[in-house]
Amino acid sequence: MSRTWLTVDTDDAHHRPWQQGHPSRSKDPAGQRTPRQPSERWLTGLQRFGEWVHHTQHAVTVFVIKDQLDHTASREALLQLAAIGGTRLTFASHGSSHRSWGAWPEDAAALTEAVRASLAANAEAFGEQARPWFRSPSGYVAPWMAAALSEAGIVVDSSVNPSWLMRRKAGPTRRWSDVTDAMGEAGLVERPWAVQRGWPTCGPALHLPGFAGRSRRTWRRLPPALSKEEMDGAVTGDGSLSTVYWHAIDHARRKGRWVPPIRAT
Ligand SMILES: [Zn+2]
Repeated sequence: MSRTWLTVDTDDAHHRPWQQGHPSRSKDPAGQRTPRQPSERWLTGLQRFGEWVHHTQHAVTVFVIKDQLDHTASREALLQLAAIGGTRLTFASHGSSHRSWGAWPEDAAALTEAVRASLAANAEAFGEQARPWFRSPSGYVAPWMAAALSEAGIVVDSSVNPSWLMRRKAGPTRRWSDVTDAMGEAGLVERPWAVQRGWPTCGPALHLPGFAGRSRRTWRRLPPALSKEEMDGAVTGDGSLSTVYWHAIDHARRKGRWVPPIRAT
């Protein structure tokens, strides 16, 4: 039977592309001036997410931005989350500073170095819960990144949002198939995000007017979520999976009562 891979990204408000990390969209493109203090909203969201995991017993992979492990307050919150989730939570890489690598000119050596640092920080913080899996910041992923990720030790990528609306994020050729082919050639498993007839359904699409209703309907029809015992084999294997992602900070919505629109299993 087909399964769903539940994944969460840990972005705070200061990671958004209009703040930092994007060559033309950001106030602070290089991301050097943006303060990394976690917001109250993020701390609340992360705590509520941990409670949701504890309550539902779902297995989830959390894509962590390395700078959050460098800052004391966000590090503590993430370690607490790891303790609450236990073996149900696995921790993967969402880059080192949320730089939109795929929107910048090719720089394989710097990407490899950043991802290596992120994986080392995850291994140090989360131990056996850490996994060599990657998601591109802000969904920008270009074909050149595949070999650089492989070089850093990544075995699974989940950055492709195979929607015609998002094709500008797929690198210079604007073709998602070029990204997926490059990942395959580099030996990586690609786990694209769930779409509905080419419309995005993950991340911000869960909340944007015009997208939210369709996204919720799609999520309610998803196959059952992977159990913690199934996860490693299913995510790294050749079988197909439905992959969805939301943001941990979403759990701060609706006064802390927001939950992802999946059926209880
Ligand atoms: Zn992100």
